[in-house]
Parts: sequence; structure tokens; C-alpha cells
Amino acid sequence: MKINGVELKELKEKYDTPLYIYDVNHIKNNMDGYLNNFKSKEFQTEVLFASKALNIKEIIRICNEKNMSLDCVSKGEIYTALKASFDPKRIYFHGNNKSYDDLKFALDNNVGVIICDNLGEVEALNSLATKKIKIMLRMNVGVDAHTHKFIVTAHVDSKFGVLYKSDDYNKIMDILSKSKYLEFIGFHSHIGSQIFDLNAFKARAEKMVSYCKDFTYPLELNLGGGYGVHYTNDDSPISFDIVSKTLISTIENEIKNQNVKLKKLLIEPGRSIVAEAGYTLYTIGYKKKTPNKEYYFIDGGMTDNIRPALYQAKYDCDIDGKENLAKDHVVTIAGKCCESGDLIIENCKLPEAETGDLLITYTTGAYGYTMSSNYNKALTPAIVFIEDGKDKLVVRRQTLDELIEREI
Ligand SMILES: *Cc1c(COP(=O)(O)O)cnc(C)c1O
Repeated sequence: MKINGVELKELKEKYDTPLYIYDVNHIKNNMDGYLNNFKSKEFQTEVLFASKALNIKEIIRICNEKNMSLDCVSKGEIYTALKASFDPKRIYFHGNNKSYDDLKFALDNNVGVIICDNLGEVEALNSLATKKIKIMLRMNVGVDAHTHKFIVTAHVDSKFGVLYKSDDYNKIMDILSKSKYLEFIGFHSHIGSQIFDLNAFKARAEKMVSYCKDFTYPLELNLGGGYGVHYTNDDSPISFDIVSKTLISTIENEIKNQNVKLKKLLIEPGRSIVAEAGYTLYTIGYKKKTPNKEYYFIDGGMTDNIRPALYQAKYDCDIDGKENLAKDHVVTIAGKCCESGDLIIENCKLPEAETGDLLITYTTGAYGYTMSSNYNKALTPAIVFIEDGKDKLVVRRQTLDELIEREI
């Protein structure tokens, strides 16, 4: 089997397993899907990559090349972007508990926009700022996007965002109206992840646009990310052009209905840019049969993909060279960690595999590497990018020495 023209066996030989593999042409295509379709004649538009899905220097360079902006949620993510020579003015800084230190780091490094999440943060920022800084306010719009409960972020008791006209909201607006340096530019909302139902976005549009009516100047609205991708055949994502065009037309209609002038509309896709362009390659080790199950053990697991253990995420896989054989075995793909829950895929259909065969899991490009861990002192796998049939190493495999480098 090949990814973007390169044989998996060749990748195994060159880089070993477990290995994260990305099809760069696919990533760029996804970016273009948003960039070309998220446009309006009524207001400016901007597409941000939510970098927590894959925050590494190489993808940030690609964002730069594509003129995309960046959503960062920590000092570490901002630092990575700066080291990849990304223009800090195009960085949007998110997070519900940015410390004084985080905020100061952002201010010192001229980060373009800080998306404030709560009253305490606005107060902190107001006391720290010594020059003009653009502020957006994250709102809790109370729209539930019906995904898995761990990834829903906009119910009324969410740790994220402010409720419109709540005490905190009124206090924030009071501070902003008097502040010498904090320049309020608009509202943000993010209603969850892996969303397939565009109605969830429509319900929110009406609210977000109505918030703008309290202001005498045109605001910016940031609609966040959360656009669903295909992990297994149970998922039916909506294509980027339709997502983009629907969001645009929904807001265009809404501002017309409510007679609001908008300056700019922004979106922050993360998962949908990189998930399906990413694969993880493993080598099958031992196999085992229990009274009710058959296991294939792989040389990675929850340390390179925590999502199945964390929220029962589902994946599909294949055995290299056996993709077209009858899938007449029901097997569970288990990692090598000392945790019974370290299962990458339960009860999937595969042909009979042998020790030494390569197993590939699909759609692992988002929240795989960035959620990886050194549990059991596993070494973080390497990342290979393949563009136009050429592979290149963009993150090398961690070494044993690096594993204990900070231990005194
Ligand atoms: C996580 C997150 C995103 C990206 O979500 P995806 O599901 O990866 O598209 C965008 N905006 C905010 C504020 C987020 O927290």
C-alpha cells in the first residue's frame, strides 16, 4: 500500500514504527477548500488553523505559505509558531486560564489578538497591558452541538466563555469601555468538536449577530472550529466548501435580517484540516486468542493515540499488502502499555495477519501527536510529511537520552 506514492514498507525501513505519516497535498487541499470558499462580499473573512490539532513547526510554515492565521492555546504553542517564523500579528491566543505569565508572554511577543474567556482574565490583561492590544470575548451561546459529552464546550455550565448580559459580561464590557489599551473587536464562540449538523451552527449565528447590536462600530465574529471528519463509515462529514458557504450565507442572511454591519467573519478549523491527511503506521507483534477475543498487539498504542481510551473514539485500519483480502477475522488492536484500556480499535474486521505485518490506522492526523505521552516511557514517534511522492522527516523520533534529559 502507498501513501501519496510512497510504499509503507519503504517508510518502515527508513523511519521505523510507530510512525505518524501525513499526506501534505491532502492537507493543502483541505486548507484551500476553506480559503477559497469562506469568502463574502459583505464582510472580510479569515481562516485560522486551530493549531492544537497539530502544533509543529512544519505545519505552521505551511499555514504561513497559505496565508492562514493561527489559533494557539498556550505559551508553548505560540513559542512553536514564533520559532517557525510565523507573524505574531496573525496569532489568536485562546484559553480559559491564561496566567499573568502567559498573557505577558503574548503581549511581549506582539500576539495579534487575545481571546478573553472570563472576567478574571480581562481584569488581569487590563492591569498588564502597556500598549494597545486587540481583544475578542469568548461567549457561551448555550448551543449544544450533540457530540460526545467530553468534547461539547458550550452548555451553560461550561468552563469556557461568558453568558450574554450576565453580571460578568456587564463587568467586562464596563472594563473594556474604560480601558486605555484593550481594544474590543468582537465575539468568539466554539460549540464543540466533530459536529456534522449544520443546524447547530445556524442556531448560534442568530445569537452572535444579535450581540453586535449593542455596539456603534462593526465587530468581528469568530465562529470557532469543530467541523466533523470521517473516522469510520458511521461518520458522514459535510465537505469544506459546503460548510464554508453555509456559514457565510447564514451570517449574511442574519446580518441582513437584524440590520447589523459586520467587519469580519472568522473560522478556526483544526481537526478537519489535518485529521484525514494523517495515518499511523505500526508493526504487529504478538497475537493472542482469549475465549471471546482475538488480539493483534502493536508497537504503539495509547501513548501515540489516546483518543480511543479517552473518549471511545473509533478508527479504521488495514494490514499493508492485505487490504483486498477477505476481512474474515474480528480482532482487537491493542497497544503495548500497562493499561487494559490501551486498545486502539475493538472488534474490527481484518484478514489474518502475521507477526511483522504493518498495520495502518486512518484519520489519525488530528490530536494524535499533540496528545501523545511518554507513559511507560514510550518514545514519541517520528512524523513524516509526504508531498508529491517525496517523503521528509519533520519531527524525528525521541531518543532514550531525551526521555531522561530533564531528570536530575
Ligand atoms: C479546539 C478548538 C478549535 C478546533 O476544533 P476542531 O474540532 O479541531 O476543528 C477551534 N477553536 C477553539 C476555541 C477550540 O478550542
